[in-house]
Amino acid sequence: MTTMKAAILNKPLDIEVKEIAVPKPKEDEVLIKVHCIGVCGSDVHYYEHGKIGRYVVEKPIILGHELAGDIVEVGSKVKNLEAGDRVAVEPGVTCGTCEYCKTGRYNLCPEVQFMATPPVDGAWAEYVTIRSDFAFKIPDQMSYEEGALIEPLSVGIHGMQRGKVHPNDKMLITGLGPIGLLAIKAAKIFGVTEIYCSDVVPFRRELAMKLGATKVFDPTQDNIREEVDQLTTGSGIDIAVETSGNGRAVQDVLTITKRGGRIVLVGLPAVSEVPIDITHIVDSEYDIYGMFRYANSYPTAIQAIGNNDLQLEDVITHKYSLNDIKEAVEMARTQKDTSIKIMIYPGK
Ligand SMILES: [Zn+2]
Ligand SMILES: [Zn+2]
Repeated sequence: MTTMKAAILNKPLDIEVKEIAVPKPKEDEVLIKVHCIGVCGSDVHYYEHGKIGRYVVEKPIILGHELAGDIVEVGSKVKNLEAGDRVAVEPGVTCGTCEYCKTGRYNLCPEVQFMATPPVDGAWAEYVTIRSDFAFKIPDQMSYEEGALIEPLSVGIHGMQRGKVHPNDKMLITGLGPIGLLAIKAAKIFGVTEIYCSDVVPFRRELAMKLGATKVFDPTQDNIREEVDQLTTGSGIDIAVETSGNGRAVQDVLTITKRGGRIVLVGLPAVSEVPIDITHIVDSEYDIYGMFRYANSYPTAIQAIGNNDLQLEDVITHKYSLNDIKEAVEMARTQKDTSIKIMIYPGK
C-alpha cells in the first residue's frame, strides 16, 4: 500500500475524501491502520468555523483525534509495540523535556503536537503515524470503539483527578454532551455512586440515566439545589463538574455546590467573561479547578475498561464509513441534541 483515503478539510464546510500518500513512520513512530475514529465537537467546530480561538485552519487539514486501530509497521527504534498489536492512540505528542513534561503535567507542554489542531493533521484516514509512547496496547476483550472512546473519556478522568474525587462524594455533572456523559463513566471508575446530572435536552437526560446517573434534572425547570438536598438528606453536592460551557450553568454550580465544595470547569463558554459572585466563592471556601485535556489517563482508562463492564459504547449514536464523512459531520453539526458520538470507519 502506498496511497490511502483521507478526509481533507479544504476550508469551512468543504470536506472531501482524497487519495494521498500513506505516511512513513519515523524511527520512533508506529504506523496504525485506523479501525474507527470519533467525531469530536472540536472537529465539527473547525469544519464549520475554520478556527477555535487562536488555532486557525490556514491550509487543508485532516481532522479527527479519537481513534483505535492496528499497528502495521514500527520504526527501527520502537521496542514497546509490534505489527499486529491493537492500540488506542493518545493524540497529543509532547516534548518530554520541558518543566511540565518532567513534572507529569504534560498536557500543559508548550511544544505539544495535538492531532487535528491546526496545523497538525489528524486521523480521519486509513492510516496514521504516532510516536510509539502515545500508542497504548488494548486488551483482546476491549473493542476498538472502546479504545477510541478513551480519548473523550480521558477528559472526564482528568476532571476527576483535578477535583480530587473520593468514592463518597456526591457529584453534579452539568451538560450531557459526549464529555458530560462520559464523565459519568469516569466518576464510576473513581468509585462515585451518587451522580446527579443536568441538561436541557430530554434525549441526553435519558441517555445519562442509561449510563448510570443517579438522577437527572432539567436546569430550566427543576430547583436542583432543593431536590439534591432532599435526595441526600441535607448533605448536598461535594463536587460539581461543569461541562456545558454555558455561562448560566457556571453560575448555577456556584450556588448548588455546598460550602467547602469543589468545582471543576471543563466547558468553555462562548463568551469568556461570565459574571460570578466572588464574595460567595470566598465565603464558601470553594476550590475551583480549570483543566486542559488530560495527562496519564490512558493506562487508568485501559485498566478500568478492561476490568469492568462500563458499556462506553452506549454513547455511540451513529456510525459512518469514511466515504460518507460529509454526511457524518453534517449530522454532528445540525443534529447536536440527538447525535452524541459519531464513529467513522475508514476501512469500510
Ligand atoms: Zn475530542
Ligand atoms: Zn514538554
